[in-house]
Amino acid sequence: MKCSFCGKEIKKGTGLLFVMLSGRGINYCSSKCRKNVEMGRKSRKVEWTDQYQNEKKARVKK
Ligand SMILES: [Zn+2]
Repeated sequence: MKCSFCGKEIKKGTGLLFVMLSGRGINYCSSKCRKNVEMGRKSRKVEWTDQYQNEKKARVKK
């Protein structure tokens, strides 16, 4: 299971699970990630997320 925000693996028994009204489950590895989502941050713009690192790699690879 991976964090919906940073994309990092969540260990069993840790993390936070939210179920949206639509029935879709959202997992966060920590309250840090949840807060970033609540603040409206995009994971691609936050340095410590896997998404950011992946984009960075993709940009360098030319
Ligand atoms: Zn996370």
